[in-house]
Amino acid sequence: MLYEVSNIQYFLNICNYGAPQIDGIPGPETTRCIRTAQGACGLEQDGIWGPLTEACAAGQISAVQRQLTEAGFQTEEDGIAGPQTWENVKAFQRMRKLDADGIIGSLTSAALFGGSSSEAAALRWFGPDEFKCACGCGLDCVLELKQKTDRVRDRLGLPLIVSSGARCSAENAACGGVPDSLHLTGEAADVYTPGMTAELVDRIAQIAREEGLGTIRYYDERFVHLQTWLRDTIA
Ligand SMILES: [Zn+2]
Ligand SMILES: [Zn+2]
Repeated sequence: MLYEVSNIQYFLNICNYGAPQIDGIPGPETTRCIRTAQGACGLEQDGIWGPLTEACAAGQISAVQRQLTEAGFQTEEDGIAGPQTWENVKAFQRMRKLDADGIIGSLTSAALFGGSSSEAAALRWFGPDEFKCACGCGLDCVLELKQKTDRVRDRLGLPLIVSSGARCSAENAACGGVPDSLHLTGEAADVYTPGMTAELVDRIAQIAREEGLGTIRYYDERFVHLQTWLRDTIA
C-alpha cells in the first residue's frame, strides 16, 4: 500500500468523491468519501482503504496524470494522488478558464478527457470558449486564427494561454484596445506561456510567422499578439 492518509484525501478531492480536508488525519468525513469512491469502483463500501480500493484509485489517478502531461502540464505517472497532481489539475483548469478548485467535475473531465463539440475536436489544444470575448457576449475568433494558433501551440510544446481573444466594442474599450483593433473582428488573440521570457516571446512569434500569422511582440508585458493579417512589429 503506497497511499498515506493525505494521498487518500488528495485522491478523493481530485476525483470528485467529496472534499475532505487534506490534513493527513483520518476521520468520519474521509471515511464517508472513501465509501463513495468504493461505490463508484463497484467495491464493498466498508470505508476501509484496502488493496482493491487503492488499485482502483491508482488507475484513475494514472489516467489523470497521463492527460495532464498530454495537455502540457508534466506530471509523474505514478498513480499516487498528491500535491503535484492537485496543483496541475488547477493549472489545467485555469488554462481552460474553469473554476480552479482542483476537483475533476463534469466540465473539467470533459476538457481533460476529450471535448464534445466538433470544433473542439478540430482544435487539439484549446477548448471551445478559450478565444471568446471575456465579457461573456459569445463573440468568438475566426476559425483560421484558432487553427493556426493551435498549430503554434503544438510546435511550441508548452502550454499556451489566450489572455485576450475576440473583443466586442465594450470589452475592447474596457481593456484599452485601439479602436481599429483586429480583436474586434475576432482576427487577433494575445497569448503567453507561464514563465514567459523575452526568448519565448521571440520563439512564439517566430513559429507564428511560419504558420502564417502576423505578430506584435510585447517584451515588457511578456505576451505575443497574433493576427490573421500578416505584419510583424514590436510593441
Ligand atoms: Zn463581449
Ligand atoms: Zn492583441
